[in-house]
Amino acid sequence: MSQVIIHVHLGLQNASFEKSLLSSIVLLQHPFAFHSSHICTNIVFSIHVLFQSYIFMFHRLQVLIVFNLISICVSFMAPSRYGFQAQVSRISLSNAAEHDLCSVWYSDSSVSRSNIPAVDKSTLSKSRFILVGHGLTYLIKVSKTRADPIFLSYEDAINLIGEDSMHSLISSFHLSDDEKISESLLAWICRQNEVNYWCLYLPLEPVSTMQSIQQNDPEVVIMPLREFGDLLENSADSAIYGTVNAITEFHRTHVFCSLCGSATTIRNAGTSRICSNHKSKGGNCKSSSIYPRIDVASIMLITSPCDQYALLGRKKSWPEGRYSTLAGFLEVGETMEECCIRETYEESGVHVDPSSIRFVKSQPWPFPRSLMVGFRAKAAKDSAMEVPRINFDENEMEHVAWFHKQYVASRLSGGSTALTYNPSEEEKKFHIPGKASLARVLITEWALEE
Ligand SMILES: [Zn+2]
Repeated sequence: MSQVIIHVHLGLQNASFEKSLLSSIVLLQHPFAFHSSHICTNIVFSIHVLFQSYIFMFHRLQVLIVFNLISICVSFMAPSRYGFQAQVSRISLSNAAEHDLCSVWYSDSSVSRSNIPAVDKSTLSKSRFILVGHGLTYLIKVSKTRADPIFLSYEDAINLIGEDSMHSLISSFHLSDDEKISESLLAWICRQNEVNYWCLYLPLEPVSTMQSIQQNDPEVVIMPLREFGDLLENSADSAIYGTVNAITEFHRTHVFCSLCGSATTIRNAGTSRICSNHKSKGGNCKSSSIYPRIDVASIMLITSPCDQYALLGRKKSWPEGRYSTLAGFLEVGETMEECCIRETYEESGVHVDPSSIRFVKSQPWPFPRSLMVGFRAKAAKDSAMEVPRINFDENEMEHVAWFHKQYVASRLSGGSTALTYNPSEEEKKFHIPGKASLARVLITEWALEE
């Protein structure tokens, strides 16, 4: 997929000549290229690929380029027969829209949670640290349009909290069973590009410690992730911060064993906890190791039977004009598809056609530690009406309505997932959540379909 994005971006940045040339390369590598429902399109496309391979093996590169140019000219003259139309129009999308179709925020394939590192000075001295304060707040450098992460070096972290405190946090991984609960926390988050990232959670020093850094740079503010997540520019950074949020939340809410009430201690570099009264430590508690809990939710774009309208709603607490897809948590004993049907009915009174439900993408949603499972589905037909009747619960939703595809497509710009977002006058009429939300991916993909 990354190759596709690179080519698409190149195509966007260069003249139309290069865009045309690149389109055939994109076709070769694009995973959607074979998803066409027209079998003739795929047959013609396959022949095209075979010819390219033949030329590439037995002739010079220039011949391949000339062949591609001729192919593209033909495709522009008879796009529907040659099957290039949908792919070329995909390239002509705006940069922002193309990003939305490809990226799921708070996740990144370069971020790894395998091979838990040793907790020692040698490892930590080459690591980076994310400072987390009271209420899961972060130091972050924020302007109106972007947020830059603040990853501290080991020396920065030592200067900030002192060598004794750091030593105490490191040794908490090796303390005996009668260890007291430590309010501060050091926990491994992930590895990215061979660098280990750790959260340094200091809930008792919210102001003085963080402000000592803040005072040196007026652009540095203290903020929860929800408020700056959309402004991060790099998806790997968003994945690191998302994991920090979820891991820190896990540790701060699991300081006691749910079976016997004893204190729990951190273990395995912060990837799990264990009861200090556990039988493996000479105690009598038979609880299991405690791993981070993940709450699973369905998030679904429901369209009308004709697919021209989307069912979107808003909650009273959201910024004015924000509409999003419906969503809700999985109940015990339920499948994701059943959750999709139930939540849609509970929030809108609309029945989903079960045969139309299809999985699209999933997303870690670190507020505090959910997994959003994204679906597309159609509403069941409701007599002869073009769009089924809506009957929403006013206690749960402020408004739910059907929105036409063209209207939504014209209003994809702007938006945010921040709860304190200040919408423009235009956005106050209607806007969708920002790039951090899977809802934007689902809505954008539908709105830009031909
Ligand atoms: Zn216990």
